[in-house]
Amino acid sequence: MGDRKFFVGGNWKMNGVKTDIDGIVQFMNAGPLSENTEVVVSPPAIYLDYARQKLDSKIGVAAQNCYKAEKGAFTGDISPKMILDCGCKWVILGHSERRNVFGENDQLIGEKTKHALESGLKVIACIGEKLEEREAGQTMDVVCRQTKALLDNIADDKWGNVVLAYEPVWAIGTGKTATPEQAQEVHDELRKWLSGNKSADVAKNVRIIYGGSVNAANCKDLAGKPDIDGFLVGGASLKPDFVKIVNAKE
Ligand code: PEP
Repeated sequence: MGDRKFFVGGNWKMNGVKTDIDGIVQFMNAGPLSENTEVVVSPPAIYLDYARQKLDSKIGVAAQNCYKAEKGAFTGDISPKMILDCGCKWVILGHSERRNVFGENDQLIGEKTKHALESGLKVIACIGEKLEEREAGQTMDVVCRQTKALLDNIADDKWGNVVLAYEPVWAIGTGKTATPEQAQEVHDELRKWLSGNKSADVAKNVRIIYGGSVNAANCKDLAGKPDIDGFLVGGASLKPDFVKIVNAKE
């Protein structure tokens, strides 16, 4: 097994105004957060600067999305350069809500990933199947197709700046968590696919985190699986229990 530091991301989605962020900052800065976990939270774009200034420097900050250009006529969007300018080092790309609510496809997500990495950002790249795809036995076809679009856009020397987030769409925000066995099975198969389609080195070292209704009650069982290297957490990252999820490995 590679030397993969446990990684927990908190995706605030389109939630919270400054007073709410102040509350989250309070419990995050108070922790205590395990030294063995890399922690990154993801506020709405308009609050990246605000959250970055208030959060302890050991907590990373991610944008929830960005465009594939440095600047220009792209009304409403933000660029990796702007994210970095606010002191944030990460971006989430390909979240299922970007794919399914806003219609982003594999190609665009791949291009965004390439530009973000070339600009110096680190990327949490999300993949995952819908319920009907799982029920049709297509889980690995979908996950591998989505990963291939990423792989084609990640230079060999950038893999250390990528975390893959396996997030089955049917488990996101539904309270229906994948069982530890279901998540482990996909992570294991994805690692094998990466070994065959990229390299044994990338397969061994890339962190694959799980997302989908992770909470304080289920995080320890999930964290116990050998190929689950952490979590991307939505709803539960807005509450003090998020600290327990960060410390799931302890
Ligand atoms: C997410 O937003 O990536 C997510 C996994 O949400 P939740 O934890 O609420 O299911």
